[in-house]
Amino acid sequence: MTVCTRFAPSPTGYLHVGGARTALYCWLYAKRHQGKFILRIEDTDLERSTDEAVQAILDGMAWLGLDADEGPYYQTQRFPRYREVTEQLLASGHAYRCYCSKERLEEMREAQQTNKEKPRYDQRCRELNLPHREEPYVIRFSNPTDGEVVIPDLVMGDIIFQNTELDDLIIARSDGTPTYNFTVVVDDKDMGVTHVIRGSDHINNTPRQINMLKALGATLPLYAHIPMILGSDGKKLSKRHGAVSVMQFRDEGFLPQALLNYLVRLGWSHGDQEIFSLQELCELFDVKDVHRSAATFDDEKLLWVNQHYLKTLPATEVAQHLVWHFQQLGIDANQGPTLEAVVDALKERVKTLKEMAEKAQVFYQPLSGYDETAAQKFLTATIEPVLQSALQRLTALPAWELTAIHQAIQDTVAEFNIKMPALAQPLRVAITGSTVSPSIDVTLHLTGKQHTLERIAAAIEFIKS
Ligand code: GLU
Repeated sequence: MTVCTRFAPSPTGYLHVGGARTALYCWLYAKRHQGKFILRIEDTDLERSTDEAVQAILDGMAWLGLDADEGPYYQTQRFPRYREVTEQLLASGHAYRCYCSKERLEEMREAQQTNKEKPRYDQRCRELNLPHREEPYVIRFSNPTDGEVVIPDLVMGDIIFQNTELDDLIIARSDGTPTYNFTVVVDDKDMGVTHVIRGSDHINNTPRQINMLKALGATLPLYAHIPMILGSDGKKLSKRHGAVSVMQFRDEGFLPQALLNYLVRLGWSHGDQEIFSLQELCELFDVKDVHRSAATFDDEKLLWVNQHYLKTLPATEVAQHLVWHFQQLGIDANQGPTLEAVVDALKERVKTLKEMAEKAQVFYQPLSGYDETAAQKFLTATIEPVLQSALQRLTALPAWELTAIHQAIQDTVAEFNIKMPALAQPLRVAITGSTVSPSIDVTLHLTGKQHTLERIAAAIEFIKS
């Protein structure tokens, strides 16, 4: 048996991190078993599905690097197939036309509510078995009336439902369009899905889907229902808690590698190991080891993981993702140091790519001004001659190299018999506008000779005025 998993999002919004984690588990499980991973867009809800949401899913998956072996399939392109299977179920007696009016259904529901019964269809049309007539109708699945359905769940263990609890589900609406649970069944069968890995919010759909799969004579997939992700307050993770869409995490400066690593650990573990390469995960991940209890999203831990990746990935790899943040700030990467040099200089000092880009801005763009307190404290008359001397030495450097810059600063410090910070801080303010930057020689090196000299001269002017 070739393992086949699928990620089947409904395109009604953005790609939620919970969905991304499900997709990751599906992807890893398929990889581990040399199987295939399918992407299926469940866009049958025409009112709620949008093209933007489809694009957001595709963008999110691409950014995460979760490439599909098959798809994307679009359910809206498979309507003829759903109709065919509906006919098949009608012919085999596993489905029937229901002509009950809205009013009748409404009355029934109200009566059930008054009697404190679970609202469900009373199967009148199933029992009447009327010949087909020219009236609006829906098609319902004939759910078995007794016995039980066992979900073989790899995470939760067997989950048992009684058939008496299940309704005769509508599989085609009066306009002929198929309903959600039915399209999932047809697709899972047609696409040869062997492992349905999805959020635990779908547990109630599963027995209905299993009954339909059985009616179609399909081999049942195994199921793995993944517990929800909660916010710090114990409630389902939502916008209230901060970023929830995958692309929002990109915007906030996370690396896809870090988000994936964080997400895989959110609900799964391998001893107390925190950092995993994708390769390792492909070998280690087993859906059976996914935890049964809900996981709590921890922003601090995600930041820690992100920082770990910023520090340890090759600078070229980090640089590939830094580019996007440069573009957001209008930084032209050609007008300054290489991206790799920036990554090396700043990787220990920031937690996100966004921060990195913000801190890098001074190396590419004109200074927007000085931090007021910093200027007051460090750009003083006493330091002016020191800055003058440093300016001369730096101007005279034949090549703009780190060791030479370092020496020029050392020599200036020695000349005035002052401590290093006494020059480094004023220089920092002159070059970056603030007192925080990488080591002073690196800062000058990244800023480039011309801009360094200009900015020191400007600081001297500032002091004079
Ligand atoms: N389309 C469903 C959703 O986005 C998922 C269906 C499934 O995984 O079976 O929640």
